[in-house]
Order: sequence, then C-alpha cells, then structure tokens
Amino acid sequence: MEEAPVSLQEMLRRALTAQVELGMGEMIVKSEGERSGNGHSQERIQMVKKSPEAVDLFGADKKIERAPQFDSLKAHYDAVCTCQLCPLGQTRTKFVYGVGSPEADVIFIGEAPGRDEDLQGEPFVGRAGQLLDRILTAMGLSREEVYIGNILKCRPPNNRDPLADEAEKCLPHLLEQITLIRPKLICALGRIAGQILLKTTAPLGKLRGQWHEFEGVPLMVTYHPAALLRSPVYKKDLWADMQVLKKRLDELRMNQKT
Ligand code: URA
Repeated sequence: MEEAPVSLQEMLRRALTAQVELGMGEMIVKSEGERSGNGHSQERIQMVKKSPEAVDLFGADKKIERAPQFDSLKAHYDAVCTCQLCPLGQTRTKFVYGVGSPEADVIFIGEAPGRDEDLQGEPFVGRAGQLLDRILTAMGLSREEVYIGNILKCRPPNNRDPLADEAEKCLPHLLEQITLIRPKLICALGRIAGQILLKTTAPLGKLRGQWHEFEGVPLMVTYHPAALLRSPVYKKDLWADMQVLKKRLDELRMNQKT
C-alpha cells in the first residue's frame, strides 16, 4: 500500500518529537495569546538545548579517489553475498550487506550484525537499530536517505567483538560499498568500528570530538546506540556529535548547490 505524502509540518513535528523522546531538549509550543498582525494564531516551536556546545570538530572536505570494482551495490552484493572468506560464513543465518540509499550523503557504520540482524539480513533492526532510527529522525534524516552498514557482514558467535582476521577479510566489502556510494561523511558507531576503520587502539574518548578521515572521506566516531541503551547518560554527548555531523552535512550540501 502506498504511504500518504507527509507534509513539511508533520516532518518537523516528528523530528522535534523524536528529539524530545531522546531527552535531547524540550519543545515549547506557544499558540494561545500570541497573535500576529494578520490575526492568525502564531505557533512557535523552540528547542531548548540541554547539551553543551557542540564539540570543536574540523577536517578537510575531500573526495574518494578509489575506482569501484563493480557497477552498482546490487552487482557487488550479488558477487559477495555468499562470502566464505572467514569462518563466520559457516555460522551466519543471513549475510548482512547494508541498507539505505545508494546515493547517501552519509554512511553510519556499526560493528557487526547481532541476532536480529543475522535473522533478518538487515543491519540495525534490533533495539539499538530502533534507537538509531530515532536518532536519525531527530536529525531530520531517515533510514532510507542515509546508508547503514557494519564492519562485519556476518554475526560473530554470541556477539563477541570482531577478530582482527575477520575484520581484515570483510573490510574490502565495506570499502567497495563506500567507493560506490561516495558519501560526503562517515559516522562510525562505537569504539570498535572507529578503531578498525582508523587502524588505531585509541579509546573512544580520544576518537570522539574530532574529524578523522577514511579513504578521503571525513569520518566522525561517536557512541554506539547500544551503549546509550545501557548508559543513557551518554545521550547528550551523542546528540552533541550528531549536531556537529548534521551541521557539516548541511554545509556540504549547500556548497554542492552553489
Ligand atoms: N550492532 C551493530 O553494530 N550492528 C548492527 O547491525 C546491530 C547492532
């Protein structure tokens, strides 16, 4: 069934509601007693920022120079979805390739599929994924317009951390996805994704709050949504990061138009 088109006002309402639900601010809606000159009720919606000022991030806006090996994500998926390069190929239920727009401006990269993702063949569909969806909504983005993937395409047993050998075997798949999509920005979700992409052992505290670069694309590392489910205290830091990411994304989109 086709979904009814959503008005701009409804989209704004959803984004603001998601922000409030995430504890990222509060909405003040004043309509009574505020009358503009033309007699129409004037509704004012204002976000009260609870988070500290956005962290100071910087970095060069570069482009990927690597040439893709495949014509499309579909062709690439067809070629790699039966991958057996590491032992996880034997234990997976489904190969979890990635989801979203092939023309996404931003790619969110997690660590590896969990149980729900392994069963459904789609990244971030469990509880952490639902939180990620709410974060995207709060940013005025949607799961359909961004791209979401993982370092590993197959679930490690009992959700253990990816092994170095697994990451090494699997990374070329992600690299090809990034090369085909040519995003403006990458967001690594969690320490493990950040460390593997940046080839570092630095802790998350050191990786957050600055722009890095992956294959010429500015990359930010922030909390994994699962960490927020365990420790909601990280919400305001994640929200500060997401504001920085969205600001940079908006700037890059504006520059592209001019
Ligand atoms: N955690 C991840 O890192 N990736 C998923 O796809 C789901 C949970």
